[in-house]
Amino acid sequence: MFEKVLIANRGEIALRVIRACKELGIRTLAVYSEADIDSLHVQLADESICIGAAPSSESYLKIDRIMSAAEIGDVDAIHPGYGFLAENPHFAEVCESCNIKFIGPSSRAMQAMGDKNAARVFARKAGVPVTPGSEGIVETESDAIKIAKKIGYPVMIKAAAGGGGRGLRTAHNEPSLKSAFHSARHEAEKAFGNEQVYIEKLIVNPHHVEFQIVADGQGHIVHLGERDCSIQRRNQKVIEECPSPLMTPGLRKKMGNAAVKLAKSVGYENAGTIEFLVNQERHFYFIEMNTRIQVEHTITEEVYGCDLVKEQIRIAAGQPLSPHIAHATPRLHAIQCRINAEDPEKDFQPSPGRIAFYYAPGGHGVRIDSHVYTGYTVPPHYDSLIAKIIAVGATRINAIDRMRRALAEYYITGIKTTVPFHAAIMRNGEFRDGNYDTSFIERVMSSGKLDLTSPPIRFHE
Ligand code: ADP
Ligand code: ADP
Ligand code: MG
Repeated sequence: MFEKVLIANRGEIALRVIRACKELGIRTLAVYSEADIDSLHVQLADESICIGAAPSSESYLKIDRIMSAAEIGDVDAIHPGYGFLAENPHFAEVCESCNIKFIGPSSRAMQAMGDKNAARVFARKAGVPVTPGSEGIVETESDAIKIAKKIGYPVMIKAAAGGGGRGLRTAHNEPSLKSAFHSARHEAEKAFGNEQVYIEKLIVNPHHVEFQIVADGQGHIVHLGERDCSIQRRNQKVIEECPSPLMTPGLRKKMGNAAVKLAKSVGYENAGTIEFLVNQERHFYFIEMNTRIQVEHTITEEVYGCDLVKEQIRIAAGQPLSPHIAHATPRLHAIQCRINAEDPEKDFQPSPGRIAFYYAPGGHGVRIDSHVYTGYTVPPHYDSLIAKIIAVGATRINAIDRMRRALAEYYITGIKTTVPFHAAIMRNGEFRDGNYDTSFIERVMSSGKLDLTSPPIRFHE
């Protein structure tokens, strides 16, 4: 097993990895930017090294500084978390060449699946259904028009290097396609330094259903069921649940087999996620693979009774899949709400700043993954995720009622958060009936039906 691991990330996922390392008896080295000096990941790690200024381009994205920290700290492995360098094959390659184990797939497998257009080609080869669309990168406006005509409107233009819901545009007709094509390319160039886009048919009101894959270096590979991540805002996940209310045993078997087949075909090792869209007739289409731990891995852990981050570390250290993972069976239902430092009453505008008072819920079946505390200042430079709250129940409705109860106990002042927004969704009749798709949030927001009244609890600060 490794002796010391560097965590190349910040926020809740850095804490998540530190906790897994501690339980495995591994020493931890945190790296941090000047803005994160008071961060819990710095305080809880055994050692820490500052790697630069606040902007991530000056710190968390600087491969040379992270590798220098790894050398100074004499670590034997690096965990990249999610975001930042987690899906950067060059970073994985640099780790490989420095003889430091990258806790994730090989740079080769990451390269194969990291480009979303290339991943579609691998999926087709493996016989996995993909969304109808362009055969490859679409270079010009006139090609875009031809392809859209062929597959039929509406279509979606997607950045090949995309992630986090960026570089995506929908077009319902030719005039809107022209502007969508250029704005998707522009956003892709700005966000990912790569303007390449491809085109897919827009699947109308689908579910986003993704399968968790775990593979070791000895050729064992399993899937740990699905997560439904259809509750999205601007193509970004907001609430996730496991299992999906849409799923049937037959469909789970078909989609799970397809996910395993695709991961196997690229020699995938470690944890990964195969994302699909499922349309109203329950036909499924591969959209992309995330070659890393995901934000919503927590709900799979709760339902399958496993620790995916520890398993990632074990696999990277050359150990075979744990027996309890190889034979895991689902039990219970789990839901996760992403709590962001954003104001839901002002179009979710970011709300960084000092947290004046923080009290997190607890009790039976409630898990909080968070790096914030009373007096912590949420820096403006990074993602607005401040906490993940996970509620588990014997049935879906038990989990929803437990989440509703827990959100009402959540008390955060000094900044605005999305807690009241989540509470409103837990009360929504359609959500409670499992009757939703990716258009849900837009629909309920535009109907003005969401009641954003704050929970009743009050503290004397
Ligand atoms: P998940 O698929 O785990 O739910 P998200 O899509 O919500 O992940 O992304 C998690 C984090 O990673 C966010 O901070 C997001 O902005 C970032 N991210 C994801 N993909 C990329 C990418 N290709 N490039 C840069 N950042 C990314
Ligand atoms: P990212 O890399 O940013 O995560 P994805 O390709 O995974 O991008 O798509 C993000 C979300 O956008 C999906 O979960 C879905 O809601 C929506 N989406 C993507 N492709 C399509 C499509 N072809 N039709 C309908 N919705 C789509
Ligand atoms: Mg995605």
